[in-house]
Amino acid sequence: MLAKRLLLMGLMALALIVACATAPPEEETTSAAKPATHTFEEVAPGVYFAQGTGEVNVGSNSMVVVNDEDVLVVDSHITPDAARELVVAITRITDKPIKTLVNTHFHYDHANGNQVFGDGIEIIGHEYTRQKLLTDVLSEPTYVLQGSVEALTPRLEAMEAQLAAAEGDARTDLEKSVAVMRRHISAQSEVVLTAPQRTLTDSLTLEKGSRTIELHFLGRGHTAGDVVIYMPAEKVIYTGDLFYDGAPYLADGFPLEFIETLDKLKEFDAELILGGHGGVTRDKLRIDARQEYLRDFWAQAKTSHDAGLSSADAFAKLDLEKHGFGSGRPAIRQLEIERMYHLMDGGE
Ligand SMILES: [Zn+2]
Repeated sequence: MLAKRLLLMGLMALALIVACATAPPEEETTSAAKPATHTFEEVAPGVYFAQGTGEVNVGSNSMVVVNDEDVLVVDSHITPDAARELVVAITRITDKPIKTLVNTHFHYDHANGNQVFGDGIEIIGHEYTRQKLLTDVLSEPTYVLQGSVEALTPRLEAMEAQLAAAEGDARTDLEKSVAVMRRHISAQSEVVLTAPQRTLTDSLTLEKGSRTIELHFLGRGHTAGDVVIYMPAEKVIYTGDLFYDGAPYLADGFPLEFIETLDKLKEFDAELILGGHGGVTRDKLRIDARQEYLRDFWAQAKTSHDAGLSSADAFAKLDLEKHGFGSGRPAIRQLEIERMYHLMDGGE
C-alpha cells in the first residue's frame, strides 16, 4: 500500500512538473487531470475541515490536523476507496506523514476506511468502538438497511431508470451520480473491519509538538462510545455524529442520555463545532435544537408505546416536522422507534 501511495505521490509530482513547464493556471491543470474529491476549510492554523465534493461517495466529513511533525486525521470515511482519496487529497495541503487516525464512533460511514491507515499509523477510539469493530457490525441493521449492497442496489436501479428517461444537463448530472454510486457499491466488497488499537473510556490528551489535542467521552448518546476531539487553544471541537445540524440517527442510540451528554458538550469553550455531516456550526443554540428534537421524539414514542401501538403505527403518527430537519427515510425512523421501544422495555 505504501508503494502505491508513493507511486501516486510521484505521479502527482510529475503532473506538477508538467504543469509548471507549460505554465497554465495550476487549478485548471489539476481539475482537467482529475477533479478534486475534497475541499479543505482551514478553520484554525493547520486545522482543516474536510468535506467530499461528490466525485466519490465519502459518506461523512473528516478533520485533518497538521502538527509540527505529523498529521492527525479524524474519521476514515465510508469505504477504503474514499479513504484512499482522502489520503491523496491531504498531500495537497501538507507533505507531513499521517501518524494518527481517531474514530469518533464505529458507524460504517465513519470507520469503514480504517484499513487504509496502516503502516505505523495509530488508530484511536473509544473502547466500545474497538469492541464493535471486532464484531460483525456489517450484519447489524444500521449497515444492512443503509450501507450494504442490498440496500444500495435498489437506489442504483432507481437512478438508472431516471437516467434512461433524462435529457440534457439532467442527464449529465445523473450519469455522474450513477457512476459514483456504481463505484461506491463495488467498493463495499473491499471492506475489512479494522478496530482502533489504542482506546479510551474517559479522556486522553495527545501532545503533538506545540499542539494539544484532547479526546473526550461525554456519555452515551448517538452510540455508547462517541468521542469528541477538542483543541483548547484553537477553540475547535469535532463532534462526529454526537452533534451536527440535522436529525440525529438514533437506532444505536440512547436518546435520554443523549440529552444529558449534549449538556456536557455545551460546557466546552469552543467557537467552532465541526460535525460528522453538514457544515461548520458557530451557534451553540443549535445544540438546544437537537436536545429539543430528542425530547419530542422520545415523548411521542413513549405515548405510542404506552398506548400499545406497533412501531409501524407509531411511525404513522410521528410528527417531527416542526424541528425543520426534514422527514428522513421512513424505514430509518421506524427502526429508531423500535430502538426506543427496546429501551422503554428495559433493554440495553
Ligand atoms: Zn453515526
